[in-house]
Amino acid sequence: MNRIPRRPPRTRDGDAPVPLSVPEIRGNAWRYLRRCLDSNWVSSAGPWVERFETALAARVGARHAVATVNGTAALHTALLVAGVRPGDEVLVPALTFIAPVNAVRYAGAWPVFIDAEPDHGQMDVDGARDFLARRCRRRRGVLRNRDTGRPVRAILPVHLLGHPCDMDPLMSLAIRHGLTVVEDATESLGAEYRGRPVGRPGHLACFSFNGNKIITTGGGGMIVTDRADWDEKARYLTTQAKDDPVEFIHREIGFNYRLTSLQAALGLSQMEWLDRFLRRKRTLALRYAGALRNISGLLLPGEAPWARSSWWLYVVGIDGERYGETSRDVIRRLEKANIEARPLWHPIHSLPPYRRCQAHRVEVADRLYRRSLALPSSVGLTRRQQDRVIRALTAGCRT
Ligand SMILES: *Cc1c(COP(=O)(O)O)cnc(C)c1O
Repeated sequence: MNRIPRRPPRTRDGDAPVPLSVPEIRGNAWRYLRRCLDSNWVSSAGPWVERFETALAARVGARHAVATVNGTAALHTALLVAGVRPGDEVLVPALTFIAPVNAVRYAGAWPVFIDAEPDHGQMDVDGARDFLARRCRRRRGVLRNRDTGRPVRAILPVHLLGHPCDMDPLMSLAIRHGLTVVEDATESLGAEYRGRPVGRPGHLACFSFNGNKIITTGGGGMIVTDRADWDEKARYLTTQAKDDPVEFIHREIGFNYRLTSLQAALGLSQMEWLDRFLRRKRTLALRYAGALRNISGLLLPGEAPWARSSWWLYVVGIDGERYGETSRDVIRRLEKANIEARPLWHPIHSLPPYRRCQAHRVEVADRLYRRSLALPSSVGLTRRQQDRVIRALTAGCRT
């Protein structure tokens, strides 16, 4: 039973909705949930959460994993564990979902936006290097932004869309400047960087099990690290900073950020399918690539030579001039055919809450945003559904 069984098409007319990305609940989900309920361990106490943490740590090759209520909470906690304090600055990509940038603000710190590199849309390590070399200065042991005077404390790269960032030069850069790296690996569980699983620390890395991620717990997240003291600190902060198991002593302001057993039980069943889901995502990506290869003005995503993508979302670029329609035209046309396609995230540095924050030479992110289009990428996407997407994209082109 290695293959994912195909569901029969729900309608005959062939225009049932094709969603962008929906969860795939399979295998032992019901069995584990029932066992969890029967055990009466439904909150965060009990064996389930620990089992899920152990399974994920083993998969990623990390010594420790701390489960959280969602990926955003994992990022917030990881930043605090990394020593990010109010008034500090953290380097973030301009092109990302907003959650990691919000997490920087939850910690009271400020984002500095770094551009995307043009080939894979990941945070541009050269841009980060340029910012640190030209715009920052070390004074009395503290690296400070020359323009704002604030201490720069961490780098938060996001492995976007299932493709890893170029981590080796980024880690050397961080180590050279004494910065901690908090990886947002929420979209890239199962991806590999130079043969190592994404999130394999590094310093700290965060995952998400939201409904549209490669595996889901409904909502959930995880922090992984190799450092025992960081693991302990993350556990402490996510359980209301409890200093005594009996008396209610709290030396710090903590959070109620722990995952529940019910979610962990679902997560354990999903982990058993991760490799099959990854194979399926790769097959879908290869099939899109083969079918859309020769369409003029359609720019296909690739893998860097050192990368193995999880192909979480298949995102193409539309060159409006050559293709004959803009990415937004295509989205509207696909919508009429009952196919859900979406733009990429609006670059965060030009959104209202972040407009006044520093953006270091951001250009590529804006261009990628305008031309990009995410195509249906669910693990359970059928051949017929994918053919409909391919036909719609082929029909629109000029050639
Ligand atoms: C999904 C996502 C998150 C947040 O995860 P939640 O579990 O939804 O809080 C963070 N960063 C990125 C890049 C994401 O795509």
